[in-house]
Amino acid sequence: MTDAVTLAGLRAWVQGFAALVAEQKEKLTALDAAIGDADHGINMDRGMTAVLAALDSDDTLTSAAALFKKVGMTLVSSVGGASGPLYGTFFLRLGMACGDLDSLGPEDLAKALRAGLDGVVARGKAEAGDKTMYDAIAPAIDALDDALDSGNGLREGMAAAVTAAESGRDATTPMLARKGRASYLGERSVGHQDPGATSSALLIRAAATALG
Ligand code: ADP
Ligand code: MG
Repeated sequence: MTDAVTLAGLRAWVQGFAALVAEQKEKLTALDAAIGDADHGINMDRGMTAVLAALDSDDTLTSAAALFKKVGMTLVSSVGGASGPLYGTFFLRLGMACGDLDSLGPEDLAKALRAGLDGVVARGKAEAGDKTMYDAIAPAIDALDDALDSGNGLREGMAAAVTAAESGRDATTPMLARKGRASYLGERSVGHQDPGATSSALLIRAAATALG
């Protein structure tokens, strides 16, 4: 059972994501300055700082479902931009998919991540190639599924997910934005890396570090 994902691992994922967001805050904001309103790093850092405080002060987070519900609700309530409800929905759906399980296998994790992504799509209607966070998260989950289907363990699966997320992030640069604020720029959105895809690649990297 070395591949089991524990509650401590899931908490470490969330905390690791918060740390990467804090570290990359200026970069995320600079990317958003080019095709948005220069607040993505500020938004995500505000949200994840609130999440860390909520995790510290709440001792009822004894299941994956409760943990991710708290993360999701905190993001929705503390982040004003589009990314708050989108990341919030990701974590809320992720938590619902974890149900009562207090330890997840790799396939359970992959399914829960897919449910989170489905939540992002239900909320924001993004499709592949729209230049959004979807373009980093979807390839990551596909890569994880493929790796697990081929008999690899969680470590290999998450390593493949990171590579796919970072390629997906890089592939947003030539895309024309079709969702969110960047879409108002039309052709002028081309040639810039999407801030949300960039933070989502950090989300996957943090998952690989904590869970892989
Ligand atoms: P805002 O655009 O409200 O200022 P942020 O700057 O925090 O919010 O987040 C912008 C990011 O949100 C974009 O880079 C993009 O990845 C993501 N995004 C925006 N709209 C959508 C959508 N409909 N679906 C998925 N992701 C989206
Ligand atoms: Mg913005």
